Amino acid sequence: MDTTDYDVIIVGGGPAGLTAGLYTCRSRLKSLLIEKMVVGGQVVTTETVENYPAFKDGIKGPELIQEMEEQAKRFGLEILTGDVEGVSVAEDNLRRIKLSDRELSCRALIIASGSKPNEMGVEGESELRGRGVSYCATCDGPFFQGLDIAVIGGGNSAVEEGIFLTKYAKKVYIVHRRDRLRADKILQERAFNNEKIEFVWNTALNKIEGNPTVNAIEVRNVKTNTISKLEVGGVFMYVGIKPNTEFLKGIVALDKRGFVITDDEMKTSIPGIFAAGDVRVKPLRQIATAVGDGATAAFTAEKYIEDIKP
Ligand code: NAP
Repeated sequence: MDTTDYDVIIVGGGPAGLTAGLYTCRSRLKSLLIEKMVVGGQVVTTETVENYPAFKDGIKGPELIQEMEEQAKRFGLEILTGDVEGVSVAEDNLRRIKLSDRELSCRALIIASGSKPNEMGVEGESELRGRGVSYCATCDGPFFQGLDIAVIGGGNSAVEEGIFLTKYAKKVYIVHRRDRLRADKILQERAFNNEKIEFVWNTALNKIEGNPTVNAIEVRNVKTNTISKLEVGGVFMYVGIKPNTEFLKGIVALDKRGFVITDDEMKTSIPGIFAAGDVRVKPLRQIATAVGDGATAAFTAEKYIEDIKP
């Protein structure tokens, strides 16, 4: 008979991971959730969540996560802060998780490690990161009180965070490479009606300038190729996301952008390893879909453990 540290280990403490933990604990599986930084994932950097059911007036991102964490802990979920460096499949049918200071084993592993914002790789971006270049409006917005700033992108993040930034900034330019937004219509309406927001359409970011802090961006109109400058004290980058799957390379099947490929039951290409939330290939990345994934992954993991247990 094998000995294992846990029945289930969950990597990542966003809504998908916390929901998976809630369900596995209620199934009386010994469960550990490993989180690299603070529990909550991208949600903790969201000022207000308006599209998660049951909160008719919306709820602050950190508050929603605190509720989820306390609920999962009430049923016995253990939470450990740690950086997962690698995952392997052992001959004894256990999954092993390598952390910097120890190795842990489990029967089933649920990957819910989420995603992080893409970098664009333009001149000035890495040099001025933290000195006017930001990827988190909730974290850095207050530093831009009274300034003109630019937001790059046209998705939900760019538009939602652009609206949020009008609380602080004098003016927010939303610079988008096309002439149509990808963001939800309700966010578009709010942005179009916000006097502090000016859209800069069909425009690509060429470089970010300033020393020691950002004072301008150089942009190019993609239709006319005209180059111009916008004088801004900050630039927020919201040009999509990339998955946190570095520790999974060569272990489970990933798509070409690095997202984990799963079936409808959240099974990956390796038995006993499941994935849930933003980290997997899926059409809609929302808190509502992440919690659904987490519940499904927990359910499938439980069935898997029942099948392999002697
Ligand atoms: P996203 O939906 O992928 O949008 C990325 C935006 O950046 C797109 O408008 C894209 O332009 C633009 N872009 C990508 N690469 C670019 C480049 N190299 N140069 C210039 N522009 C570039 O990403 P996201 O807004 O970060 O959102 C990530 C996920 O989280 C999405 O599934 C989103 O729906 C979800 N989310 C939901 C909410 C909410 O429900 N309230 C809030 C935040 C995020 P194109 O449009 O031309 O492709």
